[in-house]
Amino acid sequence: MLKPFEVHIQAEPLTHLESELAPSDWREFLSRADHARAIMKGRTFWNISSTAKGGGVAEMLPGLVAYTRGAGVDSRWLVLTGTPAFFHITKRLFNALHGSSGDGSALGAVERETYDDVLQDNAEELLALVKPGDVVLLHDPQTCGLGPALAEAGASVVWRCHVGRDTPNAEVSRAWEFLAPGLSAARFLIFSRAAYVPPQYADRALIIQPSIDIFAVKNQPMAPAVARAILATTGLLRSGPDMPEPAFTRADGVTGRVSRGADIIRLGTGPVPDMPLLVQVSRWDPLKDAAGVLSGFALLLRQTPHLRVELVLAGPAVTSVADDPDAAATLEDVLALWRRQSHFVRQRIHLACLPMTDLEENAAIVNALQRHAAVVTQKSLQEGFGLTITEAMWKARPVVASAVGGLQDQVLPGENGLLLRNPEDRAEFAGAVRSLLEAPERATLMGLRAHEHVRTHFTITRHLSDFVRLLERLSMQK
Ligand code: UDP
Repeated sequence: MLKPFEVHIQAEPLTHLESELAPSDWREFLSRADHARAIMKGRTFWNISSTAKGGGVAEMLPGLVAYTRGAGVDSRWLVLTGTPAFFHITKRLFNALHGSSGDGSALGAVERETYDDVLQDNAEELLALVKPGDVVLLHDPQTCGLGPALAEAGASVVWRCHVGRDTPNAEVSRAWEFLAPGLSAARFLIFSRAAYVPPQYADRALIIQPSIDIFAVKNQPMAPAVARAILATTGLLRSGPDMPEPAFTRADGVTGRVSRGADIIRLGTGPVPDMPLLVQVSRWDPLKDAAGVLSGFALLLRQTPHLRVELVLAGPAVTSVADDPDAAATLEDVLALWRRQSHFVRQRIHLACLPMTDLEENAAIVNALQRHAAVVTQKSLQEGFGLTITEAMWKARPVVASAVGGLQDQVLPGENGLLLRNPEDRAEFAGAVRSLLEAPERATLMGLRAHEHVRTHFTITRHLSDFVRLLERLSMQK
């Protein structure tokens, strides 16, 4: 019997967020929170996702659930349990929603049966927990099929899609066809951008953009020397003299220490502490195009061999993300490409799998890497939103991102970062990275504007206000 499990999240008082907003906006925010509490009195707000760690949904839910609880709403987070066959199908759906055929496997009757069976198992336990009048927010294709059973039990079901493609194709239609039975029960469908909304669901669609929690371990302030110490401890930088403790502050306020090393593939030693680094941090997924970053970087080195820069491609330990079964094979492909490079190029590329045993330690390492980077890139071929870029922009880093999906909603090209018109054009990529490295003052200015852009558009207070609007819409429909 497959059962969902709960991720227990402590309430965070809303007052933590006061510094995010101007006084008049803060008062308005608190009155929205009051309204949410009134609407949700005696009811629970359930979030159901497919993994507790790795990827953007698992990144956002802890903060959202904590502050919703802080607002006095009984918000909970459940993670469904699946089989390898189930996650193979849902990965295929994830790829299809991005317009990619993935491994080309079928999405037919057999797959539907496997998908439905796993969700039926999970639903049995859920039906004991979810009460009539509760709100259930289902995240992504993995959970979509739970909708009908939960709606029948009297819950208000909303489905949130964190992925999408600007220009739909046959694969995208195939995914919508597969998901249609589950979606029949959803009162609203939430998308990250308008271009992702399929016409057949336009009347039930809402747009809510993702956000970051600026107080989370991933985004908390960190002195440059501490970032270097954390990276030296994990093996991502060479140790220097007089490094401070590799310390960070845990969510509960207690001081933590980074102590685990990353699994790193490289030739020789790590970069010296003052070496400018080009960094991409993402799951090992072909759509993140770590291989393309590697070949674009190799071209950059061939064009400008004297440029001081090394590349770090980092992702989670490959067995750690439950709903991402292709991670090991993707890393293997990147590794094979790395092996084919010249000695000169290989010496400047570091492939790192970051420890995921302690998620706050992982977050501190990602924070350090993003803060230490000279340039952060996200050269995705498709991207639902791209929180890695939001995180880097918050840290005032100059960024180079592909002009795909939600990355376009964040990066204003030439103003707060650079966008690649053609993500597959290695020369465009190499030119963009080089232009930032060769004009550090311009890069610094872009970084400062990037920070400001995130502060005004992509923080958790904006996201929570969007949730209140969702609850208002649901209660108006009653
Ligand atoms: N991430 C992480 N550790 C890693 C790799 C990624 O914590 O080793 C995080 C990253 O910081 C970001 C999230 O995973 O918060 C990825 O979200 P994004 O929206 O960029 O892409 P997704 O993985 O959801 O497709």
